[in-house]
Amino acid sequence: MKKKCLWMLAAILVCGASVFTSCTSNADNPINSHLTLQKDSVLLASGQTITIVPKSINHNGQYTFESSDKNVAIVDDKGVVTGVSAGLATIKVMLAADHYYQEGTALFKVKVYGSLTGATEHEIGMLMCQDGHIHEDGDATCRKPRVAMLAYVGNKSNCAHGLAIALWDAGNGDWEKAVSGAETWSNDYPVAGGTWRLPSTDDWQYMFIGCGGTTPYISKLTQGVKVDAQGLINKLSAAGYSAPSTNYYWSSTENSKDKAKAWEFVTNKFYNFTKTYEDCIRYCIAF
Ligand SMILES: [Zn+2]
Repeated sequence: MKKKCLWMLAAILVCGASVFTSCTSNADNPINSHLTLQKDSVLLASGQTITIVPKSINHNGQYTFESSDKNVAIVDDKGVVTGVSAGLATIKVMLAADHYYQEGTALFKVKVYGSLTGATEHEIGMLMCQDGHIHEDGDATCRKPRVAMLAYVGNKSNCAHGLAIALWDAGNGDWEKAVSGAETWSNDYPVAGGTWRLPSTDDWQYMFIGCGGTTPYISKLTQGVKVDAQGLINKLSAAGYSAPSTNYYWSSTENSKDKAKAWEFVTNKFYNFTKTYEDCIRYCIAF
């Protein structure tokens, strides 16, 4: 009886020693696979790619990759990450466990900025800076000042890719001054790849719709027609900029030699106004 106990004790000591002193993995005792990444964060343009380079002492393990937000960045099974649209995404890199190694995980952070030619609806409400980038966090990753907010993506309003609204008013003036002043504004706030203009009634409508407005496009606007502009107002406010409010804003759409359309942000209606009136001016960028 006593002898048997001693044998058991010896066996426990031997096994215990092997656990604490040996670093050799075996089927009963998988060890840390020590998964790391050569680089764990990146700033990418939409459409740009970068390959994640994982390292591990487990040379047999298979890596898998998963994006936290496929609107922002996608990743293939070889670890090639492609920026999709502005925002932040995390790529989870995983290494499967096997008999000898524990599973491993590592995180790769991707910050993506958008471009005018590749703008997506996911980026509506985000800010555009003068280098023609669209950033989720405005100036934080860009040295160029922000000047506009992406408001519509599409080519329905005589634009190639979309429309963005200026972040502030260009003052007041009569209709002639509002139309011609777009040139001065362009010189003051040039945006690579975009053209400033006084919004037409179509531009206004598509920006309202792009920002979530519920009124469908109206081809023939009549005096006093009401349109839902709340999405545009809310998004500008959320971005920290003054939304057009309590006033009339010129549109470039003419009705006659003396009259042109203006948008009124109190009751959300389009009106025919005499061109010599002094009304607010806010430009948009067509790109
Ligand atoms: Zn930028």
